[in-house]
Amino acid sequence: MTIVNHILGFPRIGLNRELKKAQEIYWNNKISKEDLFLVGYKLRKHHWNLQKKSGIDLISVGDFAWYDHVLTTSLMLGNIPKRYKNNENIDIDTIFKIGRGFTTKEGQSIPASEMKKWFNTNYHYIVPEFYKNQKFEFIWTQLFDEIDEAKKIGYRVKPVILGPLTYLWLGKMVGEKTKSDRLSLLSELIPVYQKIIYELEKRKIEWIQIDEPILVLELSQDWKKCFKQVYEALYNKNIKILITTYFDSINHNIDIINQLPIQGLHVDLIYGKYDINNLKQSIPENWILSLGIINGRNVWRSDLIKIFKDFFPIINKYKNIWIGPSCSFLHIPIDINAENNFDKKTQQLFSFAIQKCEEIACLSLALKENNIKYLEQWENVSFLQKSLHVKNKKIYDRIANINIYDIKRKNSYNIRSIKQKNKLKLPLLPTTTIGSFPQTTEIRKTRFDFKTNQINSEQYNHMMNNHIKNIIKKQEKIGLDVLVHGEPERNDMVEYFSENLEGFLITNNGWVQSYGSRCVKPPIIISDIYRSKPITIKWTNYAQSLTKKPIKGMLTGPVTILLWSFPREDISYELIAKQIALALRDEVKDLEKSGISIIQIDEPALREGLPLHKSAWKNYLMWAVNSFKLSACVVKDTTQIHTHMCYCEFNDIMESISLLDVDVITIENSRSNENLLNIFKKNKYFKDIGPGIYDVHSMNIPSVIDFEHCISKITKYIPKNQLWINPDCGLKTRNWKETYIALKNMVTATKNFRKKL
Ligand code: GLN
Ligand code: ZN
Repeated sequence: MTIVNHILGFPRIGLNRELKKAQEIYWNNKISKEDLFLVGYKLRKHHWNLQKKSGIDLISVGDFAWYDHVLTTSLMLGNIPKRYKNNENIDIDTIFKIGRGFTTKEGQSIPASEMKKWFNTNYHYIVPEFYKNQKFEFIWTQLFDEIDEAKKIGYRVKPVILGPLTYLWLGKMVGEKTKSDRLSLLSELIPVYQKIIYELEKRKIEWIQIDEPILVLELSQDWKKCFKQVYEALYNKNIKILITTYFDSINHNIDIINQLPIQGLHVDLIYGKYDINNLKQSIPENWILSLGIINGRNVWRSDLIKIFKDFFPIINKYKNIWIGPSCSFLHIPIDINAENNFDKKTQQLFSFAIQKCEEIACLSLALKENNIKYLEQWENVSFLQKSLHVKNKKIYDRIANINIYDIKRKNSYNIRSIKQKNKLKLPLLPTTTIGSFPQTTEIRKTRFDFKTNQINSEQYNHMMNNHIKNIIKKQEKIGLDVLVHGEPERNDMVEYFSENLEGFLITNNGWVQSYGSRCVKPPIIISDIYRSKPITIKWTNYAQSLTKKPIKGMLTGPVTILLWSFPREDISYELIAKQIALALRDEVKDLEKSGISIIQIDEPALREGLPLHKSAWKNYLMWAVNSFKLSACVVKDTTQIHTHMCYCEFNDIMESISLLDVDVITIENSRSNENLLNIFKKNKYFKDIGPGIYDVHSMNIPSVIDFEHCISKITKYIPKNQLWINPDCGLKTRNWKETYIALKNMVTATKNFRKKL
């Protein structure tokens, strides 16, 4: 039996975040372009070698990106918004300008391009911008340079590119209203893709992986019908095309796919439901069917013996089967062996990217030779994993006793909000921030010293309190109305809570790219979750003791903690979310008891968790909203509940946003246009809103006038008595100098605006 194995993409950041580090020092002008290029080259070479060494047959090239692979595609297609071009040569700095924003020689600040979440993941891509009658042009040769590099080393290369339809779908028309207009650009786009295929042909490429993940969506007719036209145009008799789909199933689009003149299809068998016999019969017999059977999005070691037993009969029956992961490894860390804090037994529970390559290679060997002996190392996996999952009876009893009053505020918003206004006495357009303040070197050092036992907990508390004192002082000087303690004790909003709740395992080095050079370290949920001790109370109370202004308590919500962790796979998401929600409920209650009157429960992940198939939305939104409410609805009327969400696509979920029944919602708005505000207006949203007016992801500092413009624009959509003024996300990645000026400008603009009323 011949089975080819492959992966869909390898993480690009490097085991020790080499790419991130090199980029950041390059941005600070500390290394040259050549130095930066060398780091990229070494990483690619190393990652190809790792794949090869593990036994992967086809080596993926094209998965490397300097900032984001969608942005690389935009460059390759010559689609660069004018404001970043300025008649200058296109080079790597163009990529960084688009990703990060920049200041022109004339001193004008150009904000970064909009980012969005990549399907239902926590990876952010740069949204391509299109305009009517736009031309495309093949101008960025990175893909071919990298193919040449890999071929020179001698690999059997499989280039990976983003398909034209997914590319168009991910982007937005600027200055145009209807979304479908993007399709009118196809006739201009196809020739560039043809040129790319032609270049690949010249390089004697055998297989090319074209990612078209939008095929898992329920596409409208006009999108569906374009697939045939596009892939007929891309047909080249010397190159085989494998279309890859992931994150859900494509059964509903199979009749479009099987008409295409392609040679292979990849499906995600982890997050998509398939009957493989059916699937095999609905595609042409000579096609390759690539089965995504190793989970590319979670970190549990696979039960290869079970997979072998399930799949051998299928694979034995058919020809032309490939095996691989469900999706690119972009979403998981690189090497479990780097977790040297874990003992051997714990390490054996998990597989990161390198280990998953090994799993794929061993599995394909075992299947090829019908010999399970290659899988000996996996014998104990499911036993070991099950042993973690002993039920905690107390938690299950508590869950069984949840009733509707637990997820309902005592009174309606109208009644609550009057009581809150009387208690808090805030001015019109209250100013606040989203929670975190700059994570200075001193703050990081305090945390590091404590973690490495260089200071004891008494010294740590003392130093943290000093950081908090400093943050409070600065906020008072800036003149903000609702203050925060600044989150200096938190490395990351999810990691911090997972460290302080029971049921999580924290990695040391399990970094995953979030956007650009930003990486996160998702914790692993390994058993039942509960709170064994108060978490945020002492910091919040200390902050409150320093000021007369209200301090907003700051928690991460249950949905976000769940979705930004690697979940266990033996119980449902809904059940895990309930466990987290109950733990947070205890914390909310304790915050209120200690005298805190405003509590923010961040749920930035709520939107991205939306299933890709609409039919699954209702169920998801129901448990997501209920778990949020389970954590929040324990408070009195006078306690104001805030939530924060950092994205701007609310259209689909407005009803659920209302159902959360929060008193104040702060949202991202600064990079998007008035669309978002329109949605709130159209939906007659009547509770308080703070649409972020300072883009914390960019280094630009808006002036007082910029802010005033922004506020007056917003008041056209949102009544003044509902409006809060705040940045669009936490400030932890900014430095104090820019933060101080930006917030000061924001507050001054607000005060100026109030005077005019
Ligand atoms: N409170 C968090 C912070 O300020 C919220 C971050 C987020 O929404 N991603 O950092
Ligand atoms: Zn945010």
